[in-house]
Amino acid sequence: MGKVLYIDYERCIGCRACIVGCEECSGHDHMSRMFVDELNPGETVATSPTPCMHCVTPACAESCPVQAISITADGFVLSASMEKCIGCKNCTYACPFGIPRVDDVKKMMYKCDMCYDRTSKGTPPMCASVCPTDTIQFLDEQELKNHSPKEVQYQWDFGGTTIETKTVIGLPDTRSNNFGYYDGEGVQS
Ligand code: SF4
Ligand code: SF4
Repeated sequence: MGKVLYIDYERCIGCRACIVGCEECSGHDHMSRMFVDELNPGETVATSPTPCMHCVTPACAESCPVQAISITADGFVLSASMEKCIGCKNCTYACPFGIPRVDDVKKMMYKCDMCYDRTSKGTPPMCASVCPTDTIQFLDEQELKNHSPKEVQYQWDFGGTTIETKTVIGLPDTRSNNFGYYDGEGVQS
């Protein structure tokens, strides 16, 4: 299995340190690959970070006409090769999670590459290193089991197609409503 990126939405405080850390990562040209989304703005302050989900069978790589997107031996999906990418945006349209962005000036796709210069040496990616609440962590299988009492999700259904990812989500306990989901009758506390 190797290490995975584990994300526990309930711990996110929306500080966006992960975005700033991502901007500062070597080779990222000060362009963040991390998204922090506001969930039900106006109803709750809940936020959630979304990096690339690092699909086991990545639609971005499969849709690239010039094979610019590589997959590492340990299963991380890299950002497009600068030499090969032609900025066609096929990857952006193909990705079920809406992750790849394209720099229209450089005509080049960029996305989370799991800080592969760091993670290939066992160092956590920048987002996990700087997150003050441990929302984002870089864990091996045993650490994941020891660490999270939560149910985790790494398979996603898109209209009958199951997509498995190396980014693993610790599911919020919606029964307690402490994630602030809007249930149609007001936010529960
Ligand atoms: S650094 Fe951590 S707590 Fe802050 S926005 Fe990112 S994930 Fe949320
Ligand atoms: S989430 Fe999107 S960009 Fe990331 S590996 Fe999957 S298809 Fe590619």
